[in-house]
Amino acid sequence: MEKNTSSSSSAAHVLIIPFPAQGHVTPMLSLAKLLSFSGVFTTFVNTESIHRRLSVSSDLTDRRRLRFRAVPDPLTGGADEELDFSSKFIKLQESMRSCSTEAYKKLLLTEELAGEWPPVTCVIADGILDYAIEVAGEVGIPTLVFRTSSPCCAWAFASLPSLIHHGIIPFPAECDMDEIVKGVEGMEGILRRRDLPSFMRMVKSTEDNYIKLMNGFNSKLIIGKAIIFNSFDALDPTILPIMSSYYPPIFTIGPLHLLTKFFNISNEKEQEQEPGKNPCSSSLRQEDRACMTWLDNQPDKSVIYVSFGTVTVMSPEKFIEFWYGLVNSGHRFLWAVREDMVKGKQEMEVTKEMEEGTKERGCMVEWVPQKEVLAHRAVGCFLTHSGWNSTIEGMVAGVPMICWPDLVDQMVNSRFVSDVWRIGLDMKDTCDRNIVERMVREVMEGEIALELRSSAARMADLARKSVEENGTSRVNFDSLVSYIKSIELPRGS
Ligand code: UDP
Repeated sequence: MEKNTSSSSSAAHVLIIPFPAQGHVTPMLSLAKLLSFSGVFTTFVNTESIHRRLSVSSDLTDRRRLRFRAVPDPLTGGADEELDFSSKFIKLQESMRSCSTEAYKKLLLTEELAGEWPPVTCVIADGILDYAIEVAGEVGIPTLVFRTSSPCCAWAFASLPSLIHHGIIPFPAECDMDEIVKGVEGMEGILRRRDLPSFMRMVKSTEDNYIKLMNGFNSKLIIGKAIIFNSFDALDPTILPIMSSYYPPIFTIGPLHLLTKFFNISNEKEQEQEPGKNPCSSSLRQEDRACMTWLDNQPDKSVIYVSFGTVTVMSPEKFIEFWYGLVNSGHRFLWAVREDMVKGKQEMEVTKEMEEGTKERGCMVEWVPQKEVLAHRAVGCFLTHSGWNSTIEGMVAGVPMICWPDLVDQMVNSRFVSDVWRIGLDMKDTCDRNIVERMVREVMEGEIALELRSSAARMADLARKSVEENGTSRVNFDSLVSYIKSIELPRGS
């Protein structure tokens, strides 16, 4: 049965458009399901290749209030591969604008929709999808911005002008990376230089491309009518009120995968599903379920689950350090190693020690059903790159973390995991095998392990409470639905 929320209009139609990457599609798809379940007509727009990949694991047939559409892919590859991260990202944005705008505009403006579908009344656009926000503005459709990073990271980004003002950025040539930085309101005494978003390390001058990139992220936050985060209020009691004083209304409605469970969306749709497809899945890769059987055969809280997310690429040397560290710790481990994660792995020398230690206590697969893995009773630690989805999934599961951040927002998240939320250790900027081994032992054995486990359990409890009846995220989600339903059609239709 569909949820009956108090509404001022039954004709709300939201178009949701994520940046084409796993970590963006997952939370925004959860939101799409929740909104359609709450009576809002919802169109979910992917690029064609993401749509194709998603349709392997997920049922993308149209439902009464949820439909899936696709816009053409950006042109990537070729000479662009040689560019640095910021130039590549800026070119990708330009390519999306030129390839997808026409199809996107059509979806925004077409009024001859099948059945009872009303015209689009608002857009929820990914905060880093420039063209989607701008085009919606041009055609006069109100836009809400979904920022898939953590609020603390979005705020660190937003503090760029202040960091420049305080002389923190660009980093001086010979600087102390452990020095606490000034310039991020509400994070005084928390962030060191090395904890700032990774782009900030690359900036050579205030004219740099990276500044352009960060300013782009920031300007999108204030353009929209509201900002949505996959987070919950108890995580950021200091920063959220500060952000709220600068920005449009902020809706923290996470953890979204827990909220969808609370609404029982998976069960409701089960009978309508195509066979073999999981109503809850948003995976863009084939999950290897053999690892679940392997986990079933391990003792409680004995396994370190290792994953570096969907984007991180590492050298064979770093990979070997992690591998040795895990093997030398003597603990069991399950490692998700994407086939494109180690650059130059053909030249990597796998020693007998690594092979035997893995055969005895390890399991390596390409891609796992991560939320299920984290919830498994055998998992006792999460060695993670601190992507925001992984971080919040680890919190929900109550599993202590070892953080090895690599890019962008992960630097801030890992600092908060270790020094603010105190549910893990931050291994940032090193992966020496002895340090990996030591940290694994600390999180799995002895005093520190006990402390981390109990604070991780407390965090899981806070996350769960936030989506229960009267919980903050639950209340915020209901307000978001009412807000969306109250938006008037601006086009004189
Ligand atoms: N993930 C997964 N299986 C894997 C590795 C990752 O399902 O083997 C999912 C994970 O559950 C998370 C997403 O991929 O939802 C990664 O998102 P995150 O924001 O943590 O990292 P990023 O995509 O930025 O690397």
